[in-house]
Parts: sequence; C-alpha cells; structure tokens
Amino acid sequence: MRTLLDRLPAILYVADVGVGGRWHYISSGATDILGFTPAEWTDDPGLWARQVHPDDRERVFGREDELVEPSVPDEYRFLHRDGRTVWVRDEAALVSDEQGRMRWHGVMSDVTKRKLAEAELERRAEQQAAVARLGKRALEGAEVGVLMHDALTAAAQILGVDSGAVLERTIDRAAPVVRAGLGTHLLTGLQGAVTGEIEGRDGAWGVISLAAAAEPRFADADADFVQALANILADALQQRASEDDIRYQALHDPLTGLPNRVLFMDRLGHALSRRGADVAVVLLDIDNFKLVNDSLGHGAGDELLMEIAPRLQGALRPGDTIARLGGDEFVVLLEQIPDESAAARVAERMVAVFELPFELSAGEHFAKASLGIALASDSDRLPANLVRDADAAMYQAKSRGRGRFEVFDRAMRLRTVARLSLENDLRRALERGELRIAYQPIVSLHDRSIVSVEALLRWQHPERGLVRPDEFIPVAEESGLIDPIGRWVLEAACMQAAEWHAARPDARPVGISVNLSMRQLTQRDLEATVAAALTLTGIEPSSVCLEITESVLLEEPASVSETIRRVARLGVRFVLDDFGTGYSSLAYLTKLPIDGLKVDRSFVDALGSDQRSTAITTAIVRMAQALSVDVIAEGVETERQLVALKELQCELAQGFLLHHPLPAQAISELLAAAAGGPADDARAQLRASVAATPAAGL
Ligand code: C2E
Ligand code: MG
Ligand code: MG
Repeated sequence: MRTLLDRLPAILYVADVGVGGRWHYISSGATDILGFTPAEWTDDPGLWARQVHPDDRERVFGREDELVEPSVPDEYRFLHRDGRTVWVRDEAALVSDEQGRMRWHGVMSDVTKRKLAEAELERRAEQQAAVARLGKRALEGAEVGVLMHDALTAAAQILGVDSGAVLERTIDRAAPVVRAGLGTHLLTGLQGAVTGEIEGRDGAWGVISLAAAAEPRFADADADFVQALANILADALQQRASEDDIRYQALHDPLTGLPNRVLFMDRLGHALSRRGADVAVVLLDIDNFKLVNDSLGHGAGDELLMEIAPRLQGALRPGDTIARLGGDEFVVLLEQIPDESAAARVAERMVAVFELPFELSAGEHFAKASLGIALASDSDRLPANLVRDADAAMYQAKSRGRGRFEVFDRAMRLRTVARLSLENDLRRALERGELRIAYQPIVSLHDRSIVSVEALLRWQHPERGLVRPDEFIPVAEESGLIDPIGRWVLEAACMQAAEWHAARPDARPVGISVNLSMRQLTQRDLEATVAAALTLTGIEPSSVCLEITESVLLEEPASVSETIRRVARLGVRFVLDDFGTGYSSLAYLTKLPIDGLKVDRSFVDALGSDQRSTAITTAIVRMAQALSVDVIAEGVETERQLVALKELQCELAQGFLLHHPLPAQAISELLAAAAGGPADDARAQLRASVAATPAAGL
C-alpha cells in the first residue's frame, strides 16, 4: 500500500490539528513536490508552518486554529526547499483516531502550472482592461502628457515593475527626450526593459519603456501589452498634431503663412491692454494689385504676395507682428512705439521694400504699396478702431498718389465724422423725398436732336443745399444705401421716359441712360431690379441704357461680366462711361455686350488744343467705329470741340454747350418743341427754356 501511495504524483499525509502539530505520516511525493523528505516532515513539527508562503499564512493558519474543515479544497503557496513557490491544492478531512483525537487526513497536489496559467490569464485580462481604459481616456480627449503618465502607471502596476519612461526620439538631439517618467531606475535599468514603439506620422516618434531594478522577466504577451499602450499614445499624439494643424490653419493665412486677421486682432487686443499708448498699427495695401491678377493671372498675384511677405518681415523688428488681412492687404502691429516719427521710420522701411523689382515666373515686376499708420495714443484703443483709422490713413495715401504712407490724424477723424453724418442724412433722404433726378440730353451731332437723356442724381439737402453725386455716391456705395437709391433712380428714370413716350407716341422714343455703381453690379439681384423696373413702367428695354465705368470691370471681372451678360439679355443696352480713364478695357469691349462708350470729358476738353489727347480721342472713336459700337463725347463745352468731333464723325455728344442737366419738365418742353417744328426752332426753344428755368444750373 505504502509503495503504491509513494508512487502517486501527490502528497498524502496524516497530521495533528494545530499550527505546530506533528506529522505522523507523509508520502514521498513530498520530496518531489516540496523538496523535503518524509523523515524531515515527521521529525520537525514546525516545518510546515515555516514553509507556507508568508502571504498565505494568515488564511491557512486561521483554518487550523478554528478547526474548520474546509468545505472546498484549499489552495495556497508553499515555499519549496529551493526557494521557489509551489502552489498546492490541499484537500483534508478531520478524522478521529482510536483514542478520539482529531487528525487531518489529507492529499496535497501540485497545482503550480495551473495557477500560473490562471495568473497569466488574469494578467492578460488586466492588461486588456488597462489598454481599454487608456483608449477610453484618449477618446475622451485627455491630454497626451496625462495619457503618457497613465500608461506608465498602469503598465508598471500590471507588469510588477517600478520604473518606466516615455521617450521622444529627436532628430537634432542625440539623447532622447523624456516626456513622462516613473520611478528611479528610469534610464539605468533599461536593458531589461520591455518597450513599445510609438510611431509618429512622419517616421518614428519614440518609445514607451518599462523596467525594474532587478532583471524582470517579460513574456511576449507583455511586450504586446506595452505595444498596445504605445499605439494608443501614438494615436493621441497624431490626433493632437492634427488638432494643432487645424488651430494653426484657423489662425494663419495659407498663402504666406503669416498670421491672419483673427490672430492679428487678438494680438492687437493683448498689446493694447498690456501697453496702452505704446502701440501702432500700419496697414499696407498694394497699389493696383487687381491689375497684376488681371493682366498676369492669379498665379502671378499669389507669387507677388508670397514675395512681398518675407520682404516686409525683413523690414520689421523680430517682435513686430505682420499679418495678412486678406486680398492685397497686410497689417503690422508695432509695439514700443513712443511717437509718430518712430512709426513713420518703420513705414519708410516698408515703403523701401518695394524699390527693387519682384521676381515672378512671368518676369520682373515692380510693385508699390500705400500705407496708413494709426497710433494708439491718438485713438480710443479699441483694436477694430485702430485698424479702421489705419485704413482711413491708407486711403488718404492712395488718394495722394500711392506708393507712400500717411498718418491718421485729427483732420482725418473729422472727415470720417463728417462722412458719417452725411451717411445718416442720406439714410433719410430717400424717405423725405430729398432726392431728385436731373436729365441731361445726349444729342445727335448730325442734327442736334435729342436722342436720349442721362439721368443724373441730385440731392437737395435741407441744410447743405444741393449736394453733388460725386460727394454722396461714394458714401451711398460704402454704406449700402446705393441699393435702394439705385433702384429708385432706375424706376423713376424709366417712369419718366415712359411718360415722355406716352406724350409723343408717334415720335422716335427718347432713350434713357442710368448710371450704375460698382456695388450695384456686384449685386446678384441687379437682373431682378432691372426686370422689375421694365415691367413696372412698361418701357421698351432697348431704350434703356445702363452706364458703367471701366473700373467696375477691374474689380471683379468674372462675376461682374456674368451679371452684365444676364442683364443685357433683358434687352437693355450697356455703355462704358468715362472711357479712357481706366485701364486695359479694350478687351472687355469685345468680350462683353457693350453697345457704346462715352469718351471721358478730359479727352474731349483737350480736343483740338492738345495733340496727344486729340490723338487718343481719335483712336478711341476709330476703334469704336471699327467695333460698331456707339461713341458719345462727354462734357462738350465749346464750339471748337464740337467741330473737332464732327470731323471725327463722332455721332453723339453731351455737354453744357448743348444742354445742361435739366429738370424733367424742361426736357418735356424741349421734346415737345422738337416735335413741333424744324431743328432750328427746337434749338431756339431750348435756349429759351434753359434760360427760363431756375434749375438751369443743375
Ligand atoms: P457721369 O456719369 O460721367 O456724368 C456726367 C457728369 O458730367 C455729370 O456730373 C454732369 O453734370 C457732368 N457734365 C455734363 N456735361 C458737362 C460739361 O460740359 N462740362 C462739365 N464740366 N461737366 C459736365 P454730375 O451730375 O455731378 O455726376 C457726376 C457723376 O456722378 C456721374 O458722372 C456719375 O458717375 C455719378 N452719378 C450721377 N448720378 C448717378 C446715379 O444715379 N447713380 C450712380 N451710381 N451714379 C451717378
Ligand atoms: Mg454717366
Ligand atoms: Mg462720364
């Protein structure tokens, strides 16, 4: 029986109850499993108690003391003679002997393998849970630094190590940079380390590494665990990098890489609250930038901006902020600017930047810019107002000849205020019926008959008296009031023309010309406005002529051209006003449905006296004739001009010599007279009526 028992891969025993109890019998499996021979067990009653793993003693001895028969077999750790831990499964029953004493009859088996496998499984589960927790924290947007620390703590705890670090590899620095660390053996114990690669978007980013003072043993699965943590860190880093990208993009101009308006206004706000009066803003606008875009293409415009940006930066001190506000506008924030002259010196350097040509792929290009300076000491120190003042000064620089700078001053502020009050008055002018229209005839040079009339807006201001359109149209444009005003002019003029037609149904209908401003042409609903005026008044579309200036076409060629085409489809005609004062408009004559052009007064003025102007006027008239569009000479004031125009075979003319702008009533009389008798009579009549009407000076 004994031989049989000794061959079992388990330990059978009989022992006294109690921690120091005697061992009466133990099978020789004890030697294999625990390292102590049966004799050693039976000779030394304290052996068992000494060899139970210290961590398990309390529980196991408690059972002994309370004499509880374990309902489930107990499993605990035992220290093998060689020091290693052996897990035993101890199944015992209390049995009384012949004398009635209670003894343990038990079987112990080695369950170390199973226990280790279980522990391994548990560790995996813990690791998976830790990875999931970290992933969740990353998804919740925890900071990368915090995530790194969390990853290290979790890994150290689960792997049972005490040191770890997240290291960033750097290209320019030899040693990696510690981004997060745990424990003291941070860098010394790394040879026995388990590491995970944190992969960056562009090449490796770094590693997470765990180590202990004593050489730890790591399983392949542990390396997988650390790698899983590393992957989460890599994702978080990438996520943050793209968030940084987005934030960067939101605050910078993609073309030049300079700060944009948002960032600039923010910095200006900070500078103003930090420094107060010491701050200045310089606004820079490239002169005739549209021309570059139009003649050389948008690519060239972009190139120019990209060349200008670094040059301007070079003209500034390192602490100054330069930003691109959009389009061809740059703005500079100057700090520690004690006075105007200090700001002016910077502006001079900025102007000087444009002395050398810019190298564009289309070739060398000379550019100029106009600058406006506003000093915080002169303003209410609100960022937006400071930029607005610099803008006003910049416009002043433009109007004083470009390629220069102006400093915002009191006079400019007064002008701004005056402009504002004009705007307020203009707002009410429409409702109060202060706007009127004067009509200036356009006559045929053949027989001086009135072919059409141009509607010219007048404002009878209650205090200022008559305000000229040149004064208030720009205000109306800027404030947006031009929309209702423009609609009103169009409708009132068409209505008047319809009345004239109705009065003389058999006569050739007199045409009506209406001036359109830039803003009206960039408005999408112009087509609807014109269509409405036509329907409302029932006027023949072809007798309506819309006057536009060349500059309109320079500003936004694509959308404006499209608007013109759509409106022209309604049957109305277009003429180019003030022709010759703009740029490069010849191309538009062929590309757009333009029916005529008005030779600017400045050319007509010089007709016959100045050779150059005469030559230009001649060229314009010839060209128009070649393209079969109408030519109208504007501002004819002398007989000499009239003769010259006739020689050129110019068909139509307008000017004080022929007729001043007149009230509608005076035009009605002129038309009636013309219908009543020969042309000479009409002219006599006209002179009489011009002299008679108090509005002759309109
Ligand atoms: P414009 O369209 O070129 O109109 C011709 C201007 O020259 C008118 O000035 C007219 O009174 C003036 N004029 C006519 N004949 C002679 C002349 O022989 N000698 C001189 N020295 N001047 C002459 P006005 O009425 O002051 O208008 C100025 C500008 O205001 C117009 O120039 C036009 O661009 C704009 N404008 C006038 N009415 C309107 C309108 O209803 N809407 C828009 N958007 N602009 C308007
Ligand atoms: Mg006009
Ligand atoms: Mg004109």
